[in-house]
Amino acid sequence: MRRSITAVIWPDQCLLCGVWLHEDAERGVCTACLAQIRPLRPEHLCRVCGQTGLAATEAVDRLCPACREAPPAFDAARAYAVYDASLRHLILHYKFKHQSRLHIPLGNHMGLALDTHFADEEISLVTHVPLHWRRRMQRGFDQTELLARFLARRSGRRHMALLKRTRHTPPQSTLDPTRRTANIRGTFTCRAPQKCRDHTVLLVDDILTTGATVDECARILKEAGVARVLVLTLARVELD
Ligand SMILES: [Zn+2]
Ligand SMILES: [Zn+2]
Repeated sequence: MRRSITAVIWPDQCLLCGVWLHEDAERGVCTACLAQIRPLRPEHLCRVCGQTGLAATEAVDRLCPACREAPPAFDAARAYAVYDASLRHLILHYKFKHQSRLHIPLGNHMGLALDTHFADEEISLVTHVPLHWRRRMQRGFDQTELLARFLARRSGRRHMALLKRTRHTPPQSTLDPTRRTANIRGTFTCRAPQKCRDHTVLLVDDILTTGATVDECARILKEAGVARVLVLTLARVELD
């Protein structure tokens, strides 16, 4: 009822196609536009980092060459979809244009990805890659925290803010891929090691590019005694 009144007083338009939105589940984006974003399927992904499009010759044991050579600290990383133009547009609005309501449609689709990719995992805690408090204050909300809390509620799991960002670093997206690992090293600490020991943790982030950030977060969580770290992101950037 409250939603219907809001919809009349303050009608909502799809950020991608401009159509007026009426459905309850549609917040900022219409169902038709969301359906255009094709979710990643579990087949043909590196079983650790989730890299797409592995050539048959590379995929020994379903591992990409990078994971075979130097396995990351996380146990598996998966994404809802590839970072294409539509998803990029939505994520930019979500993060930088105060469109926090987008966490509902995006979170719902991440939830479907969680069901698809991690159905056999016994995830006991959900956490997220946090913003530095200064950036969170500028933005007014932490986009990955909203998604992580939504996913936890949706799947009946507990959310805990396990990580703390102790340093304000330049955004990873502004750096050359080779400098990202050095930039992020030593940025996080675990707030509650005694509460996550032996757990299987779902670590939520928005975009996975080189994986340097989630790798560092997973390293800290493992040091704190976490048994398994599974990463779920909204989007995955296709690297050459
Ligand atoms: Zn639309
Ligand atoms: Zn891999």
